[in-house]
Amino acid sequence: MKIAVNEHILNLSENYLFTEMKERISAKKFIEGDLVDLGIGDVSLPLPAAAVREAVEAAKGMAELSTFHGYGPENGHEFLRDAVARYYACDMGAAVSPDDIFICDGAKSAIFSVLSALGDAEVLIPDPAYPAYADCAAIAGKKVSRLRVTENEGFIPVPSLPKTKPYVIFLCSPDNPTGTVMPRDIMQAWVDFAMVSGSLIVFDSAYERFVKSDAYRSIYCIPGAELCSIEVGSLSKSAGFTGMRCGWVIVPEKLMQGNVSVRRIWRRRVGSCYNGTSYVVQRAAYGALSDEGRRECVRLCDYYLNNAAILKQAFSKSGYTVFGGTDSPYLWINTGGMSSWRFFDHMLDKAGIALTPGCGFGECGEGYVRISALCTMDSALLAAERMGRI
Ligand code: PLP
Repeated sequence: MKIAVNEHILNLSENYLFTEMKERISAKKFIEGDLVDLGIGDVSLPLPAAAVREAVEAAKGMAELSTFHGYGPENGHEFLRDAVARYYACDMGAAVSPDDIFICDGAKSAIFSVLSALGDAEVLIPDPAYPAYADCAAIAGKKVSRLRVTENEGFIPVPSLPKTKPYVIFLCSPDNPTGTVMPRDIMQAWVDFAMVSGSLIVFDSAYERFVKSDAYRSIYCIPGAELCSIEVGSLSKSAGFTGMRCGWVIVPEKLMQGNVSVRRIWRRRVGSCYNGTSYVVQRAAYGALSDEGRRECVRLCDYYLNNAAILKQAFSKSGYTVFGGTDSPYLWINTGGMSSWRFFDHMLDKAGIALTPGCGFGECGEGYVRISALCTMDSALLAAERMGRI
């Protein structure tokens, strides 16, 4: 007798993208410092000092009887939920109640958790998109359909489907991988679509702090979004928290599916499946959201946006059509007719630059590559210089 494994995981298509990239890079036997890696989505700058100060103080407090913390509230400490609500109000112009905020260990696990709390509705995912949406939906046993998003629409997903059935709709702005930012009117159109079709939007705002234009940074800037949307936020890229792990899920009190409160279901789920994000990490997040921390985060994002500008100019000058790179740390390049992998090899051979093949984000990503500007400025300058030479 054997115990069956979860077939949904067993049947996932192999995630060969990063393995294949690694293999092709190591086959080139670059000597130290020769490879410019613009393929990874990890950050290169350290944490804001305000976050570190809070984390150190919190860790020291754990050694004292009077300041030691054991289990915290599953939905997060009040000090951090208040800070997130203040951040939404002051920096994004969106009214969110601390009671609707659930602190978690980052956006990726939140995406799966949200799906596991929902019923059988079809999950609509743009193509291309962050691969975790489709993988998490498949593991949760959902039916997935992809919404083709192409250069014709400027890589902005638009609600062009019939409003005859409800979907769970994943939207991401600024988007990974395309770096595009959803205009206000399209965001409004998605909320209208969700209201009429009975759909639920899962809005991924992991890159909101990179927005410098007047685009909305939260779905809750749209009136009525609190009736049809969950938002997932993260400090990973904007505050350098990829190794700290902290994010949040916002489930508004007014969000109902039929006569069931989604927030009540979510609270129940969290209570059963999660014991809270580490106190030390929550204190670090609190530091990152303080006045000083927010100023430092703006500085971090500006650094990456400057890299993006350098890279955008270099690739545009070389004749490529470039999307993103403003309001976003990602650039999305049309390879000019080459397959994504062929262009990957070409750039590796000719310039020693590693990129991410766009086909790894969905069928519509074929013929494109993603460039990450979350690198150091030295790497961005070196890549630009090499682009000028080839
Ligand atoms: N959402 C998007 C669009 C991302 O690109 C990423 C990470 O790259 C995440 C979510 C995951 O973020 P976290 O580090 O908070 O899990």
